[in-house]
Amino acid sequence: MEGNKMKIEFLSKSQNEGFARVAVAAFISQLDPTIEELSDVKTAVSEAVTNSIIHGYEEKEDGVVSIETILEGSEATIIIEDQGIGIKNLDEAMQPLYTSRPDLERSGMGFTVMETFMDSLEVYSDGVKGTKIVMKKKFNSVG
Ligand code: ATP
Ligand code: MG
Repeated sequence: MEGNKMKIEFLSKSQNEGFARVAVAAFISQLDPTIEELSDVKTAVSEAVTNSIIHGYEEKEDGVVSIETILEGSEATIIIEDQGIGIKNLDEAMQPLYTSRPDLERSGMGFTVMETFMDSLEVYSDGVKGTKIVMKKKFNSVG
């Protein structure tokens, strides 16, 4: 199919995590993914959006989270951005089991989950303001 693109923005409220997951899944459905592939994408989107809300905006509900999804051939690129506090030490943050919020009973596995369920994951942050996540996944079911 030809390429396609969508972009959504929503407030950093926890109820929007479910919306984001379903919105991306609905858009990606045009690539005819398997149920499992769709579930992988939903899980990765949830982890990234939850991070923006909990860590980026520290649970303040007036932040803006944006998600852009680009479809090219059989591949989806999902870009999730916030303008929150950013990540000071990216290497440390991406280690399995590292969490800056053990007090919230986080397990430090979000980035590991995103890496596992997607084909690639890139994280950008200048450590002062904002975090940008770029994830890609190819859907093999596309003929
Ligand atoms: P879990 O995802 O298992 O509940 P977690 O969110 O702490 O725990 P990760 O998702 O792997 O674990 O994130 C690791 C750390 O990276 C976080 O504890 C936080 O310090 C930092 N981080 C991740 N995303 C953001 C973000 N959008 N803004 C600021 N900091 C972030
Ligand atoms: Mg997380």
